[in-house]
Amino acid sequence: MEHFRRLGINEHVLRAISEERFEKPSSIQEKTIPLILAGKDVIASSATGSGKTLAFGTGIIHIAERGKGIQALVLTPTRELAEQNMKALKKFSRYKPINVVVVYGGVSINPQIENLSRADVVIATPGRMLDHIGRRTVDLRHVKMLVLDEADRMFDMGFIDDVKEIIHSCPAKRQTLLFSATIFDEVADLAAKYMSNPVEIFGEAQVDPRKLAQVYYEVPEQIKFSLLVHLLKHERKGLAMVFCNTRRTTDFVANNLRALGINAFAIHGGFSQDKRNKTMENFHSQSVQVLVCTDVAARGLDIKGVSHVYNYDIPKDSKEYVHRIGRTARAGKEGKAINLLSEKDHDNFSRVLRDNDIEVREEKRPYIQRVQLNWRGERRTFSRGPPRRGPRADSPRHRRRRRY
Ligand code: AMP
Repeated sequence: MEHFRRLGINEHVLRAISEERFEKPSSIQEKTIPLILAGKDVIASSATGSGKTLAFGTGIIHIAERGKGIQALVLTPTRELAEQNMKALKKFSRYKPINVVVVYGGVSINPQIENLSRADVVIATPGRMLDHIGRRTVDLRHVKMLVLDEADRMFDMGFIDDVKEIIHSCPAKRQTLLFSATIFDEVADLAAKYMSNPVEIFGEAQVDPRKLAQVYYEVPEQIKFSLLVHLLKHERKGLAMVFCNTRRTTDFVANNLRALGINAFAIHGGFSQDKRNKTMENFHSQSVQVLVCTDVAARGLDIKGVSHVYNYDIPKDSKEYVHRIGRTARAGKEGKAINLLSEKDHDNFSRVLRDNDIEVREEKRPYIQRVQLNWRGERRTFSRGPPRRGPRADSPRHRRRRRY
């Protein structure tokens, strides 16, 4: 505990940390906590799994007091990350009872209004927060600390105008902390505009390249799913995440895996929040072994024990590739990222290789048994592809308009 105490953390938080059995601060905690406690604005480049929640959580728990209005606001890109942050903050504030409230879209607004009236700390997704501001059901006049968590994701998901509007609703005199896996130009511009003399901190790379093997298979589209099934059966050690670019493919892959007796579940923005939370709990408890997901749904999730990341589709955005593979090879464990490349993935894959300094080895395709596919009761092969229904749910255009 001495390591943590030296950072200036108070006894309430130290006690909660010791119960979590954390031995020493992570690099990002070591570098940011003293600055945060000194009231500085901080920009930290740090990814999921770096321990950033405890870093800003410590700052929040130090300043927040019960019954004095909303004193800290954390904006996060997704509902899952909001839930995750809320749970972590509740844990770390166990010995300094403060009222932590989470608000996000997709669920009824009325209980949130009631909760907001008693909140000391709020964790929110931008869309729903803006809704509350518009309805005047939230009072941000007492905010002393604003945290922008995964700011780069909020840009990617088209939330940045909402974020700016929310910032304008907070008092100008406040401390602002910004966490982002990558600090690209727009993030730096945001910091310059809304932060005051921020100190920039770089965390350690999230993925240990020595522990992460990255491979790819060339595979015709018609047998891509069969190859995935083969690999899941032969490769799997721990939990596996299978990334797809659209909700439609996510459903298609998860349904067909389940039809073959593989314990898989889908998670994407099309499901109710309750269902997404339940699936995440089952995956955390390891009763679900394969999580098939879109980038949006998986963003920022901290899941332990992921041994394999499959890219069933290669992401369009090469930064997304880094986010995906960062789900494995964490906390000193080994991990493997497996890319399944059919003709349509080549452009995206070239971009990933061009933009990232990574080494991906080609693997020879094994002999695989072709499996029968089923799409909503129709017996067909994937060569014809699943049916299209309406606009592509995960197209950037669509995502931009979606509110969380
Ligand atoms: P985060 O990046 O905040 O989502 O944290 C990732 C995971 O690391 C969470 O499960 C935390 O509980 C855990 N964690 C945070 N700080 C430490 C630490 N100093 N030592 C060990 N685990 C930690």
